[in-house]
Formats: sequence, C-alpha cells, structure tokens
Amino acid sequence: MDTSKLPPAARSAAMRGGTEGWGSVGDSSAHVRYTVPVDPKSRRRCGCGCKRRATHMGMANGVGLVTACELAARRWVKTGETKAAQRGEGE
Ligand SMILES: [Zn+2]
Repeated sequence: MDTSKLPPAARSAAMRGGTEGWGSVGDSSAHVRYTVPVDPKSRRRCGCGCKRRATHMGMANGVGLVTACELAARRWVKTGETKAAQRGEGE
C-alpha cells in the first residue's frame, strides 16, 4: 500500500488509522473519518435536510460511506452523523 498516492486527507487518515483493509472495509466508528470532494457533475442530493447538492463524500479506510454537503460532511467527520444530533447544539 503506497500512501503517497493517496489524496492528502486520505493519507493523513491512513497515517493515523493504518491501512489494513484499505478500500475494502470501511467502518465509520472504527476508522478515521475524512472527506473528499466529489465530482461536481454528480447530482446527488445531500441527505442532511439542506436540499443542496452533495459536494463531499465521507470516507473511512478508503471506502466512501456517505455523500453530503460540505457542512454535513464536516459534521460527519466530527461526530459520525450527517444530521445535527440535537437542535440548538453548536452551529
Ligand atoms: Zn446538507
């Protein structure tokens, strides 16, 4: 596994979490979560309720697990959820 070929966010996750099962087994609770931008031609919608285009993919261990808007993707990296856990918390 040559981590130098990975995008920076993925490389950082691989360095922190290791690369065992990279690209085949991704678990949002067991692996380091990170995001990558997705092809802007993709027209998938974000699932967080914002009704915007999903511009980022949430990844763990080289496996794409969720697609979401940038805000929801960042939240997913932090909490493992694309939706806000509770109203009035943070943001
Ligand atoms: Zn969203």
